[in-house]
Amino acid sequence: MSLKQQPISPVPEETVRVACAAFPKGNIYLTLRDEIGTLYSDSDFAALYPTHGQPTVRPWRLALICVMQFIEDLSDRQAAEAVRSRIDWKYVLGLELTDSGFDFSVLCEFRTRLMAGGAGEQLLDTLLKQFKERGWLKERGKQRTDSTHVLAAIRNLNRLEGVGETLRSALNALATVAPDWLCTWVPDVWFDRYGRVVEEYRLPKGIAARQEYAEMIGTDGMQLLIAVQAETTLDGLAHLPAVEILRQTWVHQYYMDNDRVKLRAAADLAPCGSRFDSPYDIDARFGNKRSVTWTGYKVHLTETCDENQVHLITHAITTQAQVSDVTQTQPIHEALAAKDLLPNQHIVDAGYVDSNLIVTSRKQYGIDLVGPVRPNVSWQAKTDGGYDSSQFIVNWNTKRVTCPQGKKSTKKWVPTQDKWGNAVINVRFPRQTCRLCPARDLCTRSLTEPRELTLRPKAEYQALQTARQQQNSTDWKKLYGTRAGVEGTLSQGIGTLGLRQARYVGLIKVRLQHLLTAVALNVLRMVAWLDGISHAKTRISRFAALAPV
Ligand code: SF4
Repeated sequence: MSLKQQPISPVPEETVRVACAAFPKGNIYLTLRDEIGTLYSDSDFAALYPTHGQPTVRPWRLALICVMQFIEDLSDRQAAEAVRSRIDWKYVLGLELTDSGFDFSVLCEFRTRLMAGGAGEQLLDTLLKQFKERGWLKERGKQRTDSTHVLAAIRNLNRLEGVGETLRSALNALATVAPDWLCTWVPDVWFDRYGRVVEEYRLPKGIAARQEYAEMIGTDGMQLLIAVQAETTLDGLAHLPAVEILRQTWVHQYYMDNDRVKLRAAADLAPCGSRFDSPYDIDARFGNKRSVTWTGYKVHLTETCDENQVHLITHAITTQAQVSDVTQTQPIHEALAAKDLLPNQHIVDAGYVDSNLIVTSRKQYGIDLVGPVRPNVSWQAKTDGGYDSSQFIVNWNTKRVTCPQGKKSTKKWVPTQDKWGNAVINVRFPRQTCRLCPARDLCTRSLTEPRELTLRPKAEYQALQTARQQQNSTDWKKLYGTRAGVEGTLSQGIGTLGLRQARYVGLIKVRLQHLLTAVALNVLRMVAWLDGISHAKTRISRFAALAPV
């Protein structure tokens, strides 16, 4: 397979090598240019440009500049300056030393084009395709996935700041498009209230005063919405995005009580996934994972993890912060199938696994989903000698269950759904049998009702029981231990490529950011691999190393 090679820099290679030694990433770019190539060609982006005329900067160069920008975590201005001034960048991009570069806004335009054309994924997929063709990446190995939180590029707002800023943002939008109309009716006192950023230190203290302040903002906001709605001569005021955000936020945060605008109690709020946290990034959501809380997004990275192979990111997906990990397992498998990069074993933490996913991953994609299933948390499982569900024998043909005392369930076998919508089967034992049972204390706490069981459908039930047994074995623990390596990938992304902080506003843009981060990580890893740098070993403290095996 030939490298994607665009016109080579006219600068003599030896000159480049000497000059590149002056830059921290200089040697990376030499290997990138000489061993990997230019990653992209203009034809990869042909669909994003009009057929007539030629773009000022070649698309393959812009794509590569975006990747290099992420490798060094540079802003657009810094990246454009690097193109103008650095010999290593000029070498990779095949530019004359005298090339004067371009205005930094060209990078933003290129990203807009990528997003409008839905070509963000293509940046990663094109790279993976080349790596696959060159034998650096193989299907049906091991892969692992984990997620981390991403902070939105906005100021964190508390509820009072949030409603104040939402109203301020709508006023600013109206002041831009209809300043004369706004001045005809807006009360003078509003300039004091909403002329400046709403910040906590200026807000009233005490519960009653804050409640009153919140309701004052609510009343003002309602007055604005009514005024906008009543304005018929100016077209489209009510449809300004900031006004629409104000309207939705007021629905979420306030209610009408006898013509008075009242703040909703916290318990009366919509779920955090369906309300805005800030008017300045309406896709950012409040997230909560164990002890970490944040406003923003979540990124899921999937990478290969075979021993003695380079570990490459095969998939990156960004979601809103509140979206649970378990909802992403199936989409990740779908995406890997589309890239012909399905693994044999997919190693994930407990957040990505449930019995249904174990079954469907195996059936649809031939993937062994390796991750700890949730333990049985019933009181019987926690009691010494208790009769938890694993001690009952299910006969799926006769649809009867035998309890540890050898008694059979009734003939009632009721397929239904649990409160989360999962298919389950309810069975129960004869009341009289359970009432007379000598081991009743180990089986049920009900004084009057017999033992009942809720079973998953056959395939899921068996997968769950098998997984619970397997995850105690040494071999399984060793295999699962390879998942921990993905923490290093997240750490590399956060520490050197700015993964933790969203650069842009909005889910689509943040998603593109993470795709570029994934490409940058792959380039760094491939270059390290080609330069003979092996994977770092997990460090163990000197004291821990003394522990008896
Ligand atoms: S209580 Fe009922 S189901 Fe439980 S062991 Fe006794 S007979 Fe079996």
